Amino acid sequence: MATINPCPLCGGNCKPFANTTLTIAHHLWSDRVTGLSGCQCERADCAELHLDDDSQHRYAAASDALVLAARRHAGQELRRIRRKLKLTQADAARLTGGGHNGFSRYEKGVTQPLPAVINLFRLLDRHPEMLGELLPDRSVPQAA
Ligand SMILES: [Zn+2]
Repeated sequence: MATINPCPLCGGNCKPFANTTLTIAHHLWSDRVTGLSGCQCERADCAELHLDDDSQHRYAAASDALVLAARRHAGQELRRIRRKLKLTQADAARLTGGGHNGFSRYEKGVTQPLPAVINLFRLLDRHPEMLGELLPDRSVPQAA
C-alpha cells in the first residue's frame, strides 16, 4: 500500500499516482509522456504535481526533445515559405525584425521564432500578393 507523503511545497497530503499520461506543450506543438508516477497534493490551493525521479527525468527529456523538434519544424516551415516567396534571409529579417542573422538562426533551428513570425509567414504562404504591401520594393512572386 502506498503511503501518503507530505507535499514538498505546502506540507499537505500528496496522493500517489502511477501510469499517468501528461501532455507537454511548446508554442504550437504538443506531445504526451506516458507511464509517469509520483504524487499530487490534495490541497485545492496547491494541487502541485511531484514526479518520481525516473518520471521527472523522462518528462524533462521529452520536454527538451519537443522544444528541439518544434524549433526544427518551425525552421523548415519558414525556409520553405521564404523560398516560395523568393525572399533572401535579409529580406525575411527586415520583415520580422530579428537582425541580419536572426532569420538564419530560425531556419537552422537554433532559435525558436515567436508565434507572430510563424503566423506572418503562414499568412504570406496563403496570400503571397500581400508581400508587396510589406516590402513595396520587392516584386510579387507569381503564383505557382
Ligand atoms: Zn501542496
